[in-house]
This record gives sequence, structure tokens and C-alpha cells, in this order.
Amino acid sequence: MRIDILTIFPEMFESPFNHSIIRRAKQKGIVEIFTHNIRDYSQNKQKSVDDYAFSGGAGMVMMIEPIALCIDKLKSERTYNEIIYMSPDGHLLDQKTANHFSTFENIIILCGHYKGVDERVREIYITKEISIGDYVLSGGELGAAVFCDAIIRLIPGVLNDETSALSDSFQDNLISPPVYTRPADYKGHKVPEILLSGNEKLIKQWLMEKSLERTKERRPGLL
Ligand code: SAH
Repeated sequence: MRIDILTIFPEMFESPFNHSIIRRAKQKGIVEIFTHNIRDYSQNKQKSVDDYAFSGGAGMVMMIEPIALCIDKLKSERTYNEIIYMSPDGHLLDQKTANHFSTFENIIILCGHYKGVDERVREIYITKEISIGDYVLSGGELGAAVFCDAIIRLIPGVLNDETSALSDSFQDNLISPPVYTRPADYKGHKVPEILLSGNEKLIKQWLMEKSLERTKERRPGLL
């Protein structure tokens, strides 16, 4: 998968994309991530990327020209499955959406700032809008990093144990059961007996029961 990210703060991605699973996915050649500084596509001397809103009021709006130039250049080089705008009024990101996007070859992600991007960017270029929750962030970068993490870990070959993403919460509409490791007894707080029994069948059954119990309790809507 190739991900092209349009941003005015490319440095914000340095840390999230250079550790842990995403770093491993890049090293394995499973994913390539390119950040593009929208400012580099600004046509004016000041290299500005925003301007006052025609509607007046506080807050600047990201101009269409630099964004359009950058997207046109990328589109002339390859075909993209989706051109995504990170936006609080977009489709709420969930596991089903992450699964869907993890199958794509090439995607573009546009990160907004200030009051957002000129509406015509959305009309002309954007094919999908994604929100990471019903709250407003200062910019699209953190949302894009969350979105990338959620989809990259699902690409086959990224996680060592291929089945481990399948047993995560929300796959199969269930919440994960609780997990424990050593010590079996921490200051009197004991690991459930059954997990120490070595009886695989009973353990499996217990995990399923706990999973259902948690889902009923915490996310009944999933059932
Ligand atoms: N004025 C806009 C908010 C702009 S916030 C409104 O009220 O809808 C600035 C930028 O942050 C947005 O352009 C978007 O790219 C990003 N952003 C803010 N909240 C987000 C969220 N919940 N999910 C994804 N991106 C978000």
C-alpha cells in the first residue's frame, strides 16, 4: 500500500510512523508513506496556504490552489483508490471502515487546519471524508496518524502472528476478553483459575464467555 499525506506539518508524522508496527510495515516493504508539504505548492512569494473566509468571521481557510496542484501531480503519477479528507463531519472511523481501507493499493490523505479547507477541494477532489470522533482537533495530522495505524496493522504480513488482528476487539463485533500474564498471584490478586488449568477447550470457552459478557456490558450495540 502507498499512502500520500498532504499536510502543512509533515514533521508531525515523524514519530508515529517511525516506531512499532508502522515502522516494521515500512521496513518489510508492505507500506510506503510519503508526506507532502502543501506549502511547497503555494504559488505566492510568502508561500501562504490560507486566506480569509469570504463569509467573514474569525479563522482562516486553506486555499484550493496549492492542494489542487499537489493532488493533480500525484494523480498524474498513479491511480488512487480514494482521496480522503480528515474532517470532524466525515464518516466515523470504526473497525469495519479500517478493514475496508486496508485492502487498498494507493490512497491520499488530506489534513486540514484552521477553519478547514475551501469547500471546492471537497467537491472536486475528495472521494471520502473520515472523522476519528465527534470532537474537533486543531488539525488533521493526529487523525491521519490514527487512521493510518488502524489500517496498516490489518494488512496481511504486518503483524507477526497473522491471526492476532482477528482476535482484537470489534473484529466479529465482539470486545476482547481480559488478558493476564505472570505473576499468577499479584499481592493476592489472582489470575482466574481456569487460565492456569492447561485445558485448552475450557480456556477457549471461558474467553468466549468473557468476550460476550464484556460486549453486553460495554458495547451492547455491537451484538
Ligand atoms: N471548522 C471545522 C473544524 C476545523 S478543525 C468544523 O467546525 O467542522 C481543523 C482541521 O482538523 C480539519 O480541517 C480536519 O482536517 C481536522 N480535524 C478536526 N477534527 C477532526 C476529527 N474529529 N477527525 C478528523 N479530522 C479532524
